[in-house]
Amino acid sequence: MIETQGITKSYASTTVLSDVSLRIHRGECVVLLGPSGAGKSTALRCLAGLEELQAGSVVFQGETFVTPEGTHRHLRGAIGMVFQQFNLFPHLSVLDNVALAPRRVKKVALPQARRQAEELLDLVGLGNRRGYFPHELSGGQQQRVAIARALAMEPTLMLFDEPTSSLDPEHTREVLRVMRQVIDLGMTVAVVTHEMSFARQSADRVLFMDEGRVVEDAPAARFFTAPQSARARAFLREED
Ligand code: ATP
Ligand code: MG
Repeated sequence: MIETQGITKSYASTTVLSDVSLRIHRGECVVLLGPSGAGKSTALRCLAGLEELQAGSVVFQGETFVTPEGTHRHLRGAIGMVFQQFNLFPHLSVLDNVALAPRRVKKVALPQARRQAEELLDLVGLGNRRGYFPHELSGGQQQRVAIARALAMEPTLMLFDEPTSSLDPEHTREVLRVMRQVIDLGMTVAVVTHEMSFARQSADRVLFMDEGRVVEDAPAARFFTAPQSARARAFLREED
């Protein structure tokens, strides 16, 4: 569904990703783990077509998506991304936050965009908050709106970068539950998270990164029971 082929990403003299090749299959849930600074967020941003590459390429649904020469931006619309910060539009209602991109980008008519937004808000458990503004919601509720907003573009791939790391445990649980629902719909998903119980329960495969490289790429069951690399073993000891 999406793969990186030997991508290298650097800022000035700092190499952040070195020759990274990874692949995410249709319907799979892949969790990216690794210490701070490993390059996890950068890897997700590269998958989303949001970074210039110094070498290698990203291939999405069989099409060349990103190369050092540039990005085929029209493919970005099929990828939804959810960040640690919710980045909702503060002056728009919850409903309009979700309906905006389909209207603007896909030229979906207002009634249809609103109807679809209502369905998505029901899905994330916020059907009764349609008319609220972002500042009237908790962090967890805002993040669930951000997930609904990403889904509104009908992506074929969803990328989550530490979506719960600014939330308290209760709101974290709510957001993780919604992410489970998205996975259970059969969506192809890549997640950066420090929620190890979520990773254990939800990941099909784990990519363990360190110092700009994928150190380990293993089925989740094997990664968590028998990690191969010393770095992954040390990481799991610290996180658990
Ligand atoms: P964390 O778990 O802390 O979020 P991460 O694995 O997501 O870490 P990245 O954010 O991908 O790590 O960053 C990897 C490295 O790239 C870090 O050393 C960081 O300082 C560097 N880096 C990231 N963005 C930039 C930038 N815009 N300019 C320079 N260096 C950057
Ligand atoms: Mg990060």
